[in-house]
Amino acid sequence: MMDMYNEDAELIFSVGRRFLTGNGVEQDISKARQMLSQAASLGHPRAQQPLDTIEESSANPNNEEHVCDPLTEMLEYNKRFVAEKQYEQYATSKYPDRKIAIVTCMDTRLVTLLPAALGIRNGDVKIIKNAGGTITNPFDSTVRSLLVAIYELGVNEIMVIGHTGCGVQGMDGTEMLNLMRKRGIDEEHISLMKHCGIDLESWLHGFDDTKEAVLETVDLVKNHPLVPKDVVVKGYIMDSTTGELNACS
Ligand SMILES: [Zn+2]
Repeated sequence: MMDMYNEDAELIFSVGRRFLTGNGVEQDISKARQMLSQAASLGHPRAQQPLDTIEESSANPNNEEHVCDPLTEMLEYNKRFVAEKQYEQYATSKYPDRKIAIVTCMDTRLVTLLPAALGIRNGDVKIIKNAGGTITNPFDSTVRSLLVAIYELGVNEIMVIGHTGCGVQGMDGTEMLNLMRKRGIDEEHISLMKHCGIDLESWLHGFDDTKEAVLETVDLVKNHPLVPKDVVVKGYIMDSTTGELNACS
């Protein structure tokens, strides 16, 4: 799913990176530069980063890891970010200016779309994320975060934001347990947890209907014995492509 750029840009980016690192093709820095510039001009969000490393890469063509590993790329980017004082534009305090906390899903499509679609700037709101953006247990860590946001940080309004095409919708606990077994998790550990009374299937189970799940979460927070009655709690669903927000009722 390409949000900000098209599949051509993705293709040009990945081929350009191959020329840069000599991965599967003969290394060709000028071709790499040309293709990465093109991907960057088409709006590919990661094209500029390898482009920035080209000088270094040409000096040390064996430095393949340097460009290929996403974590290394992020650490390199971070050094430049700090050195160039790019952080200055994000200066703010720990208190949310809009006094709002948002509970939402960890879905990658929402990482920058959700704040952009709501006009949220750094310092505006608390964002608490988990898989699905819902709360199934009154004492889970999301509730704890909300209590901190309310009592310590001045939040007086809570938005629960589900989204279209959520991966947690229809998630099957039994299926995930099977995936765990396939990845080498010991059956004994699974049985032991079951013997201790932990219902793993239902703990890992997703929700069937997003709107229903959002409304249940709103209900749970509103009626939570430790949440003050004057805190406003509302539920919404965001379109994962357009960012359009619709109230749940
Ligand atoms: Zn989701």
